[in-house]
Amino acid sequence: MRERLAERIDALLPQTQCRRCGYPGCRPYAQALADGEVAHNRCPPGGAAGIEALAALLGREPLALDPACGSESAPGVAWIAEGACLGCARCLPVCPVDAIIGAQRRLHSVFERRCTGCELCLASCPVDCITMRARRGAESAPTAQQNRAHHDAHQGRAARRANERAQLLSERKQVAAPSGPLRPR
Ligand code: SF4
Ligand code: SF4
Ligand code: SF4
Repeated sequence: MRERLAERIDALLPQTQCRRCGYPGCRPYAQALADGEVAHNRCPPGGAAGIEALAALLGREPLALDPACGSESAPGVAWIAEGACLGCARCLPVCPVDAIIGAQRRLHSVFERRCTGCELCLASCPVDCITMRARRGAESAPTAQQNRAHHDAHQGRAARRANERAQLLSERKQVAAPSGPLRPR
């Protein structure tokens, strides 16, 4: 029942996965709302319209956005200054929708049609060469449904990599382990 409610709440969230609500993504925030653990005014990208929709679904009073979570504004798009990028790849794993393209020691760039504007990559860059800019007129941001699909794909890939690493580690441990106690001659 709560799972179903969490799904309906999640459908009202913008899916930028920015973590400003204090949860590690939209779905965990939706679950906390379904469990009655948190206020419904903690999503800056959703803004006043989002709070109103949540209040209607949950039968609560509309509230002003909690300023501790940030302020309402249209999400921007990340941009990487080409001349400054070291190719360190630290920004790759933090992007919740795999919008950054590049490999170790190669110039990185942002696939702008995929970027949710979450800003999570900014802090990961050791040379501060990632900045946010407003989307240009004709440039539309991805929809919430697209963001969710990209985030699900990202999480699926991350889980598969973690499984592969765990399996490799366990195989290495088995190879390194002594086969049994040495017998005295
Ligand atoms: S868009 Fe950001 S603040 Fe809003 S629910 Fe999703 S992760 Fe939380
Ligand atoms: S490129 Fe940066 S701002 Fe854009 S979605 Fe990825 S982490 Fe967020
Ligand atoms: S973290 Fe910064 S320097 Fe490193 S690859 Fe990303 S944009 Fe380039």
